[in-house]
Amino acid sequence: MASSIESAGKHLVLVGGGHAHVLVLEAFVRNPEPGLAITLVSKDRLTPYSGMLPGHLAGTYTRDEIHIDLEHLARAAGARLVLDEAVGFDRAVRRVLLKGGENLAYDILSVDIGITPDLSGIAGADEHALAVKPIGSLLDKWDRLADSALAPNGPRRFAIVGGGAAGICLAFAVRAFFTARVSDPVEVSLIGSSEAPGINAGMRRRIARALKRRRIAVHAEDAALRIDRDGVVLASGRFVPADAVLVSTHAAPPPALAKTEWAKDERGFLAVRPTLQILNDETAFAAGDCATMVAHPRPKAGVFAVRQGPVLARNLRRAVRGEALETYTPQRDHLLLIATGDGRAIGGRGRSLAFEGRLAWRLSDVNSNSRPML
Ligand SMILES: Cc1cc2nc3c(=O)[nH]c(=O)nc-3n(C[C@H](O)[C@H](O)[C@H](O)COP(=O)(O)OP(=O)(O)OC[C@H]3O[C@@H](n4cnc5c(N)ncnc54)[C@H](O)[C@@H]3O)c2cc1C
Repeated sequence: MASSIESAGKHLVLVGGGHAHVLVLEAFVRNPEPGLAITLVSKDRLTPYSGMLPGHLAGTYTRDEIHIDLEHLARAAGARLVLDEAVGFDRAVRRVLLKGGENLAYDILSVDIGITPDLSGIAGADEHALAVKPIGSLLDKWDRLADSALAPNGPRRFAIVGGGAAGICLAFAVRAFFTARVSDPVEVSLIGSSEAPGINAGMRRRIARALKRRRIAVHAEDAALRIDRDGVVLASGRFVPADAVLVSTHAAPPPALAKTEWAKDERGFLAVRPTLQILNDETAFAAGDCATMVAHPRPKAGVFAVRQGPVLARNLRRAVRGEALETYTPQRDHLLLIATGDGRAIGGRGRSLAFEGRLAWRLSDVNSNSRPML
């Protein structure tokens, strides 16, 4: 029978410190695999836990509280951490190419590198807006924005482009954060429809009421066409004046995947089997936002990446041991919680469950407290 002896001398390379890989490392902390060498490649030493991000932006959690220290985690798992960016993959010779010039050979590979924002449809977004991904650079820019808003002539008009769950959370967080800290009137606008996956009709009604109560101007059936220094031009021709614009729209696959010969879905994300192996490569796995489970596609959300983590950990261990892999079917829906920035939240699940209040926020807080290793 195959055993951990099979994995001795093998090299498992994890590329990206996303949510699924955090859980993989945790699994190897709890249950080390004798003889297996593990390397984690990550652009950043700290990785944010997305469930706590809206709470941080609203001022509830500190920056330290929402981050997981990959150096600490890798050390505990007996893994080597390489702080570098993967810029390419050569599947024929099983190598990962790093920006710093290193060229890493692997026996088994796993990729969890998230997404990049697709700003291509909005002219001027690159220059004048703050993209919400990658989250690390969002937080740096957010801190600078917060500092400048505290100055007497700082920004007072904020626009958020993107009416999905992340955009709505951001609008509430911006309202809560700046209204509490700036004595002048603050204007907040949300541009984009709230027909996001996972937001049912009951939640939509509650969200609309909550936005109105907090005086957040909503341009629901309109799209941003152009962003300039003074605001956002909409498809309808309307102009939304803004001193600062945050963009949380469509996701694009990370550039490192562009030239690989791996199977992809129609949008360019890695196409994976129910075992989380890439369709055309038994030695390479992928999870989180950069991957699509072609048999069971789900929205790109941290909660799905977190759920893939334990399965990925077991299958990577089985793959290095030469054992049969398990298959995984993600849940059809999940509890969606939108923090309103004031100690309350709007929650829902499936087609009809919708609720709101302090208890909903407690739920999101409990979720945050059960985040992976901090
Ligand atoms: C404002 C906002 C609020 C959100 N709120 C929620 C929420 O409440 N609940 C929820 O479920 N989801 C939420 N999301 C979505 C959530 O952030 C993502 O779905 C989640 O982060 C995806 O996790 P991941 O594992 O795919 O990778 P990510 O968390 O994106 O991590 C990818 C990691 O890979 C590293 N990396 C990237 N490229 C490379 C490379 N080439 N080489 C090496 N390392 C690389 C990065 O440094 C990063 O550490 C929110 C998103 C935003 C923007």
